[in-house]
Amino acid sequence: MPQELNYWLTTVQMPVSPAQQLPESCEVVVIGAGFTGLSAALALAKRGAKVAVVESETIGWGASSRNGGMVLTGLKLGVNQLIARYGRELTRRMYAASLETISCVERIVGEEGIACDFARTGHLEVACKQMHFDDYARQVEVIAREFNHQLRVVPRADLRTEIGSDIYFGGMVDETSAGLNPARYVSGLGAAAMRAGACIYERTKLQGITHESRNGTPGFKLTTSRGSLWARNVLVGTSGYTGDATPALRKKIIPIGSYIITTEILPEALARELSPRNRQIYDSKNYLYYYRLTPDRRMLFGGRAAFFPETAQTIRESSEILRRGMIDVYPQLRDTKIDYVWGGTLDFCFDIMPHVGQMDGLHFAVGYAGHGVAMATWQGQKMAEWIATGKTDNPFSEIAFPGAPLGLYNGKPWFLPFAGAYYKILDWIS
Ligand SMILES: Cc1cc2nc3c(=O)[nH]c(=O)nc-3n(C[C@H](O)[C@H](O)[C@H](O)COP(=O)(O)OP(=O)(O)OC[C@H]3O[C@@H](n4cnc5c(N)ncnc54)[C@H](O)[C@@H]3O)c2cc1C
Repeated sequence: MPQELNYWLTTVQMPVSPAQQLPESCEVVVIGAGFTGLSAALALAKRGAKVAVVESETIGWGASSRNGGMVLTGLKLGVNQLIARYGRELTRRMYAASLETISCVERIVGEEGIACDFARTGHLEVACKQMHFDDYARQVEVIAREFNHQLRVVPRADLRTEIGSDIYFGGMVDETSAGLNPARYVSGLGAAAMRAGACIYERTKLQGITHESRNGTPGFKLTTSRGSLWARNVLVGTSGYTGDATPALRKKIIPIGSYIITTEILPEALARELSPRNRQIYDSKNYLYYYRLTPDRRMLFGGRAAFFPETAQTIRESSEILRRGMIDVYPQLRDTKIDYVWGGTLDFCFDIMPHVGQMDGLHFAVGYAGHGVAMATWQGQKMAEWIATGKTDNPFSEIAFPGAPLGLYNGKPWFLPFAGAYYKILDWIS
């Protein structure tokens, strides 16, 4: 039986913030110590702002330490869908931002000396059906023409140069993407934010926020499990773990579980056969699998084995479901031991887009839909700039943020079993 433990956490010592009382007031309070919150806190502290990060658990406890570590270009939605929805000009700016997110991570890793195995490995999307593969050529052409960015189609006959599996109809490679160890990365971001002067308050849960002016300055009174404090500005970066303290935001986010297994360490030749170019790989289904080698040569294999956010039971069930999925892709791993299994929660918005802005005066950045390692880092930096200067050129602030159809959602995702079934059916028919 695999250990029910996040493998990445076995590779890192998370920084511990000093035990200290909450300040009476702050310029900015950031809720959530993941990529979004810590990236924003780092940038704000570097600008000289007095920043407090309030985290109900510990640094990196949320999705930021639990993910696949794929630092991906593009957005969750395909480019044709984006253009149809938002037009060429705005899509061009959003796509350019998605490319910038990778350099943003690379820059922070370099500047802060974060030892997180960041490497520009590129990513490979593999087609589960012929019609998915046919669409790759169209996407590559649109991306080159509209966004001046080169991707490469890999026909089925050449796919063995990219992946040691014969089940796919072809692939599409983007060399710009990267991979990293997410727990080491979020740990390094936390340490960097503290070095720059941000204070992080772990095991401090935000319970409520009200508007309150101080000496004529508008701001917010925040009530937490460890007392209250006042802030001129608040940034909410709670992603799939957004709760009752920010009810308006919670109603716009669907928390969805995603699960990962990692194998024992593989022999070098086998690892090279499975992923000759060490790509970050995912398939073309809605109910998709994503996988890669870890820096110490384990196969990391993830997917939405259960739609619900993680519990001891969904984690246990996911382990066998994912193992079977992994063997479908890589029969070579039939007798390989699974060492670890864990889960985490993703944040999907109803339009499957990232959203940033202000809601009732509170700044927020959410909605990464499983594409958040690079995007959350970048959004954290952009939110810091917005809060510090009062201005933003962030294209994601220009798109509408839809709620549930007919308003039929109070933040408790009763429809997830139906959504799971719906996506499985979609994968059969499209
Ligand atoms: C299994 C899995 C695999 C993934 N794989 C990838 C991948 O390979 N590539 C990719 O790009 N993306 C991936 N993602 C998505 C990516 O991890 C997230 O988009 C990203 O980490 C979001 O960062 P965040 O800082 O916004 O949120 P999180 O890291 O989730 O942090 C939110 C924090 O807010 C805290 N919080 C919540 N409520 C409160 C409160 N009331 N008071 C105080 N604190 C609170 C939580 O404790 C949590 O620590 C994956 C996600 C999962 C779960």
